[in-house]
Amino acid sequence: MTQSFKRAWLGLGGNIGDVERAMAQALQSLNAHPAVVVELVSPIYKTPPWGVEDQPWFLNCCAQIKTSLSPEEVLELCQDAERQGKRQRNVRWGPRTIDIDIVAFEDCEQIEQRLTIPHPRATERAFVMVPLAEIAPHLIIAGKSAKQWLSQLDDDGIEMDSSDRSWWS
Ligand code: ADP
Ligand code: MG
Repeated sequence: MTQSFKRAWLGLGGNIGDVERAMAQALQSLNAHPAVVVELVSPIYKTPPWGVEDQPWFLNCCAQIKTSLSPEEVLELCQDAERQGKRQRNVRWGPRTIDIDIVAFEDCEQIEQRLTIPHPRATERAFVMVPLAEIAPHLIIAGKSAKQWLSQLDDDGIEMDSSDRSWWS
């Protein structure tokens, strides 16, 4: 029996509540799925708010997974993990503690409202490209490597929170 495993790269982040814990639990629950292996996780970075500036700083990281699931199935798992993260907080209907995006998925390019791959805004965001370049500098997204995208971005203010890569397990 052949099972085809693909790699995918996820971007995680949040700015409310215990984000480190929410991201760690999300990665653990993905890794606990029989068809998913979390292969690499970047350090956590503190990043200045983007867009709306009057809000707390974010924590961000990226992860590389290996999976036999489809991109849509991975998105569902990510959204389950987002919901779990939200449940640990007491604020009902409050903002999400954690956001998980599929940045790229091996051999997949699609533009659909439900799931666009590669993520259309990831290459413009230093808070995604900094952690991604840490774990997958040579990954090609839309014709350029993560490292090349990063070299064009303003990464001012982004600080590594801890160089520990096993923070999540
Ligand atoms: P955002 O990530 O833009 O802050 P959400 O997490 O609420 O906002 O995502 C909105 C929708 O974006 C999701 O319901 C999902 O279906 C869709 N989506 C499209 N492409 C992607 C992707 N690559 N990764 C994650 N979600 C995506
Ligand atoms: Mg999202």
